[in-house]
Amino acid sequence: MPKFQLDILGCGSAKPNLQHLPSCQVINAREQLMMIDCGEGAQLQMMRQRVGFSRLRHIFISHLHGDHFLGLPGLISTLALQNITGSITIHTFADGARMLSDIIDYICRDRPFRLQFNIIKESGQVLYDDNALSITTIGLRHRVPAVGFIFREKNKIRHINPVACQAAGVPHYAMRALQQGHDYQAPDGTVIANHRLTTEPDPCRSYAYISDTRPSERVIEAINGIDWLYHEATYAQADRAKAHRHYHSTSAQAAEIARRANVKNLIIGHFSSRYANLAPLLTEARQIFPNTILANEGLTIDLNKDLPTLPSP
Ligand SMILES: [Zn+2]
Repeated sequence: MPKFQLDILGCGSAKPNLQHLPSCQVINAREQLMMIDCGEGAQLQMMRQRVGFSRLRHIFISHLHGDHFLGLPGLISTLALQNITGSITIHTFADGARMLSDIIDYICRDRPFRLQFNIIKESGQVLYDDNALSITTIGLRHRVPAVGFIFREKNKIRHINPVACQAAGVPHYAMRALQQGHDYQAPDGTVIANHRLTTEPDPCRSYAYISDTRPSERVIEAINGIDWLYHEATYAQADRAKAHRHYHSTSAQAAEIARRANVKNLIIGHFSSRYANLAPLLTEARQIFPNTILANEGLTIDLNKDLPTLPSP
């Protein structure tokens, strides 16, 4: 099964603390690495978690609060020092592109790779699309313009049935067409239907990154049925007035979003530094959506699998 993996490098919020690093994640989609947000400490954490620098090609910045992008200039200069070639694309708002290109040009003018900016303009924008994966934005409700990112796999290939293929004398060169769903035509003109020579592909999987935001009806609609959801849960329910004021969510609100959107698995993160113990946030979420886990630095999730069904606390 092709790789679709999430590494969490940082899941704290804006105020620094010793428990968590600011926001940063890496998606490994078929060995291509894509970073989501790049808080301070991202590159050191990449080393700790053995996330290879050389395969990083896309960086998605959700919004321009410092805890979501201040690790980027340092990371880009390290990529230059490591002589990474090819192209690297930063997906960000127009203000971010202006600011980051100024900083990066100042500290790292001669770089061996091509640095490109893809400007985020709206909700529902396709930022990335190839034959196996698409990445789109979803507008969030934050104090500054902010988007989430929805990753959806597509066009997974059918599995060859080796016994049936051998019995039918299918030559090796015809396998690729079979994997793509075509029927097989033998040299004598006989046509064998695809489903007799192959089995169903693995299901296409999906992941949504939703941070920072107040609870949003638009998000519920956009992420309906998603396999894995990362939703910010900056506060506990007791601090919900504060969450509302600061345009954030509580863990119970994140769980309510997951429940109403029929997602399969929920990861909560972007924790306020005020909570030394996150167990109450987890309990409050799991009372509404049992299949919830806490994000943590070093956590790796195989997005091809679901959590075992967890009982309600
Ligand atoms: Zn923010």
